[in-house]
Amino acid sequence: MTSTERSIAAAEAHSAHNYHPLPVVVAYAEGAWMTDVEGRRYLDMLAGYSALNFGHGNRRLINAAKAQLDRVTLTSRAFHHDRFAEFCTELAALCGKDMVLPMNTGAEAVETAVKTARKWGYKIKGVPDGRAKIVVAGGNFHGRTTTIISFSTDEEARADYGPYTPGFEIVPYGDLAALEEAVDDHTVAVLLEPIQGEAGVLVPPAGYLTGVRRLTAERGVLFIADEIQSGLGRTGRTFACDHEDVVPDMYVLGKALGGGVVPVSAVVASREVLGVYRPGEHGSTFGGNPLACAVALEVITMLKSGEFQQRATELGEHLHQELGLLVGGGAVEAVRGRGLWAGIDIAPSHGTGRQISERLMERRVLVKDTHGSTIRIAPPLVISKEDLDWGLDQLRAVLGS
Ligand code: PLP
Repeated sequence: MTSTERSIAAAEAHSAHNYHPLPVVVAYAEGAWMTDVEGRRYLDMLAGYSALNFGHGNRRLINAAKAQLDRVTLTSRAFHHDRFAEFCTELAALCGKDMVLPMNTGAEAVETAVKTARKWGYKIKGVPDGRAKIVVAGGNFHGRTTTIISFSTDEEARADYGPYTPGFEIVPYGDLAALEEAVDDHTVAVLLEPIQGEAGVLVPPAGYLTGVRRLTAERGVLFIADEIQSGLGRTGRTFACDHEDVVPDMYVLGKALGGGVVPVSAVVASREVLGVYRPGEHGSTFGGNPLACAVALEVITMLKSGEFQQRATELGEHLHQELGLLVGGGAVEAVRGRGLWAGIDIAPSHGTGRQISERLMERRVLVKDTHGSTIRIAPPLVISKEDLDWGLDQLRAVLGS
C-alpha cells in the first residue's frame, strides 16, 4: 500500500463521507503549487474555492500570523484586544462602509446577514413581527447551515434536513422582473451572489446588479451581496459588484479574508444597518480574534495596493482568451467567468466533470467539478503567467479536439 492509499483508506474509515476528494494527499504547498505525500507536484487551479487568492504560504500572511502567534491569539469578545479596532476600521474603509461584524466561516457570516436584515426590518423598517421576507436566487450557494439550506434549490444540499426555516422566496437568478414581483412590503432584503460560484461561475446578464440596486433602493429593501467567493480580487476588482459600480447595503465576506491561513468572515455595512445590535444579541467566541484580525489586516493591506486585482484582470483576460478557443471543439460546450475565474461546461460525450478532473490530476493539475458537468478554474492570483500557460497546456491536452 502506498502512503496515499493508506491515508485515503484511514480517512474513509474514520471521517464522514460528506466529500468526495480527488485521490491526492497533499503534504506541502507554496504559491500555486502543492506537493503530495509521494513527492509529486501539482498546479493548484482551485485555490481552496478562492480562499487562497494570495497563494499557499504567502510570506506576508505567514509572517503576520507568526508575529501574532507570539503575542496573543484569543481573548474572546469579553475583552478588547489591540488588533480589533484596526481590523474593523480598515475593512470598513475597504468596503466604503461604517461598521463590521466579524465571524469565522462563510455560512456564519451569511447567517449573520440574515439575522441583521431581519432585525433591521423589525427595528428600522417597521415590518410586523415574524413577517420578514428575504428574496434569494435559484441556484444559490450560501453555505450549509439549516437556515441557509432551507432556501437552496439543490436537492442534494437540502434533502433530509427539514423542517426548513421559513421566510425566504426564491426567484430565478438574473431575472429582474421576477425579483420585482417577489419584493413586497414585508421584504427586508435581497440576498445574492454577484456571480454564482458553486452554480458553475454564472455571471448574471449585464445591468442585472444595477437593476437590483435600483429596485432595492426604491423599495426600501437591503441589498446583501454575498462576495464570499467572488470578492477580494478574484474577478479583477476588489468586489464583483464593482464591475457595475454597484455598492450593496451589506457585503458578506469570507474565504480569502483569512488568506488561506485562518477562517475569517464578516458582514460589513452602514451604521444604520449594523447599528441595530445591542450587547448579547449576537456573537461568536472566535469571531474577530487577534490572530484572525492580524492576518485579515495584512490581506486588506495587500488588496489596497490593487496589485492582485490587476493580476486577476491581466491573467484573467489571457485565461478567457485561451479557454474561449476550446469552445465548440467537441469537449467544451461553454466557458463563463470573470477575472481569474472560469466555469467550463464539459460535453457529456467527453466524460463527467469528475472524470475530467481525474484526467487533469494525472497531468498534475488540480481542479474540482461542480454540478456534474462543469469544472471550475480559479488558480491563486499569484500564479505566474508561465505556470498558467502550463496549466492551459494540460487543459488543452485533456479538452482539445
Ligand atoms: N457563500 C458563498 C458564495 C460561497 O461560495 C460559500 C462557500 O463556498 C459560502 C457562502 C460558505 O462558506 P463556508 O464554507 O466558509 O461556510
